[in-house]
Amino acid sequence: MMSSTQRQGPTDQECPICTCEMVLPTAIPACGHKFCFICLKGVNMSNLGGCPICRGPIDDKIFKKPKQALDLKMDVPEAAAAAAALAQQPSTSTSSTLQQIFNSVTQFFAFSAAAGDKKVKQEPVDEDVKPDVAALNAQMRAQAAPAPPPPQPRMYWLYHGRHQGWWRFDPRIEKDIEEAFVSLMPVTEVTICGHPYVIDFSKMSQFPKNSRGSAREVKRVNSDEFDAMNVKGLAGVFASRS
Ligand SMILES: [Zn+2]
Ligand SMILES: [Zn+2]
Repeated sequence: MMSSTQRQGPTDQECPICTCEMVLPTAIPACGHKFCFICLKGVNMSNLGGCPICRGPIDDKIFKKPKQALDLKMDVPEAAAAAAALAQQPSTSTSSTLQQIFNSVTQFFAFSAAAGDKKVKQEPVDEDVKPDVAALNAQMRAQAAPAPPPPQPRMYWLYHGRHQGWWRFDPRIEKDIEEAFVSLMPVTEVTICGHPYVIDFSKMSQFPKNSRGSAREVKRVNSDEFDAMNVKGLAGVFASRS
């Protein structure tokens, strides 16, 4: 695969199904081909006839009680890899991005300084003196300049198990859900194992798009709440507790 040979590093494990960095890499026992757990489960549920690469048999057992070394609070692999690449090997494109950020920050401070200067020079406003319109405009523009967004606490999305307990969503699906939630969308649609599901934020529930009957509860929790909930695992993969 082209992109596999271009990128380097231990995190470079691309799933042939979704062509993204693998989430919970899972090997088919018979042939050893590796995919995201979720992607492979989706293929298997759709009955597409064995391994997507070699058509070899897929042992159903790997979906029944999957157990992997699992970081329950793992991030989306792409994001983690991008952050690592940024820290370790700055490329030309990275430095030009940094240059752009630096330029805009410099411009912002230069602009603020200019606005500040005018404020200092501005005469006290009384009945006799007309306000310095230019200075006021500059002041207003400076105030309207976008402030950096406040840091958002890390939030996690969970869904209720069929019988009991809570599971965390696949981090990529979780990211989509969180983005829809913070942009105040009433509902959003996600694809889980190749099937469309609807998340209804007003009811905090999730149901298959084609059958409203079997809804499951979903929950949005912060890191502390997550720790207190004894989450079973991630996207159907049990967390091993030692
Ligand atoms: Zn995949
Ligand atoms: Zn195979």
